[in-house]
Order: sequence, then C-alpha cells, then structure tokens
Amino acid sequence: MTLPSHDTIVTYPAGDLSATSRVLHVEPAGDGRLAVITEHTSFHPVDAAWPDQPADAGTMRAAGPTHVIRDAVVAATDGETLHLGADIPVRTGTEGWSFLVAHLVDEDSAIAEGDEVAIEADAATRRALSAGHTACHLAALALNRALADRWSKPARDDALGNPDFDGIAIESSRIVANGSVDRYRLNKSLRRAGFDTASLQGDLDGLRRAVADQLDGWIASGAVVRVERDGEGLADRRAWVCELPEGTARIPCGGTHLDSLTELSAVLPRFELVDDGGTPVLEMTCGARLRH
Ligand SMILES: [Zn+2]
Repeated sequence: MTLPSHDTIVTYPAGDLSATSRVLHVEPAGDGRLAVITEHTSFHPVDAAWPDQPADAGTMRAAGPTHVIRDAVVAATDGETLHLGADIPVRTGTEGWSFLVAHLVDEDSAIAEGDEVAIEADAATRRALSAGHTACHLAALALNRALADRWSKPARDDALGNPDFDGIAIESSRIVANGSVDRYRLNKSLRRAGFDTASLQGDLDGLRRAVADQLDGWIASGAVVRVERDGEGLADRRAWVCELPEGTARIPCGGTHLDSLTELSAVLPRFELVDDGGTPVLEMTCGARLRH
C-alpha cells in the first residue's frame, strides 16, 4: 500500500466534468466508506481549511458497476499516513506533503489500486454550485462597495480598491445550489478598526437596495469570468477573475465558476442581523438566477 507523492492533478478549475485516471491508493475512511485517490480528477472536493463550496455529486466506475461518489474531501499525506479533511495537521501547500482529492465511495465498491476509473461529475449540480459561487464573490464586492463610506479609518482594499469589509469581517461562507450564505461578525474589533456597525443595524433595507443595484449593473455588463491558476496540482494557487467595468477583480479561490455574468439573469441579496452569543452577525443570503 503506497501513498501518492504528488498532489492530485485537478481539471475541474477548467470546467471539466469527466476524467479517466488510474487509482493510486484505496483505504477505509470510516463511516462505511472507502477513500479513493486517483492520479487526476475532474471532481471538486470540499476544502478542509475553508469549506465554502461543497463537493460535486457524481460517480466513479472501474470495470464493473458504477459507484456513487458519496462525498469528496481534500486529503494530505506525508508518505506515512493519509489524513482526511479536518484531520489534516498542516496548511495546504506545506513542503514535504502531498495534497490529494479523496473520493468517498461505499466500502463494498469494487475499486482497487491500479484500476483505471471513469469519474463523472454531475453537470446540473456543478452548474448550480458554480452559479452560487460566482454570485457569492460578486456580492462580496458589491457589499464592500456599498459599505465603503461606513469606514472612518483606512482599511485594507478589496480587489476593486474598496475597503474590504468582506475580507475583514467574514466568519463563514457557504455556497449552495444557485446561492450563497455569508456571515459577518459586527464585533468590537471591527468597530475599533473604524467600521460604523451601529448605523448599519438600522439600514438593512438601504444596504439591500445598494447591493442589488450594483449587482444588476455588473450582470448587465456581461463581464467574463475565469479561474486562473499557478499549476495543475490541487494545492497550486487559484483565483477567481472577473473583468468588471471598474477593473479586473481577482480573488483567491479554489472553487468552480461560471464563464461569464451573461449566464446570470439576476443575483438577489437579502440581509438579516442575527445574534451569535451576544455578537451581532450580518448574514447576507444571495439567490442566483441562471438565464437558461
Ligand atoms: Zn471562492
């Protein structure tokens, strides 16, 4: 039983759904599942450190029957042990470690090391998640812009030169089918950094209108979207790039995306203030509507 010594080659950033690859490693993953590591894959896994976009749905097939891929997670190995998802003890890209896509299939699946497998990610699921993820980044930029005048001190800039509220206050980001949910902590350190949390709390509808108008304008621009990457390995850096009228926006991102904002007919934001143990949290929920 050997563990791979190179990162999994990933082809989903280019939009691929299908891949044929050799199985490098199979081992029980607990919960009645097997972790299957291949040389390359078109299957997007959920990230361990920032689990925003869920795994693709789809199947894997060796010579026999087709097996459902129940989940896919990022895994890492130092050559000794395979660590899955939250159990990975090092940061992505750490020297001496390989970062892998682990496809989780049922324990009784007839898949073994050395097999040639056909991997197929479901197109409709991928498209819905890509729409949600593209909408999520676009909405974050629109939110930063709408909140720009609520800062009384200099803050670090976002990809378009506005104060990066999203980057500074974000607690969690979840991509869902045709949408996203982002949570921002309006805590003391944000107030100390110069952000006016008090006035925001009484003006959620004004905020919604400002963000919605900005999103409408950007969608009407039909801007091109692409994923840029430093290399083909799972741990190589990737970024979401969108050619907006204000300039080229570039945000580090490991997910999948649409090819253009022309694929969207609307992105509709909603805002809510929720309480998290005494800390107010701003929740931005986006619904992305696809044109077709
Ligand atoms: Zn992203």
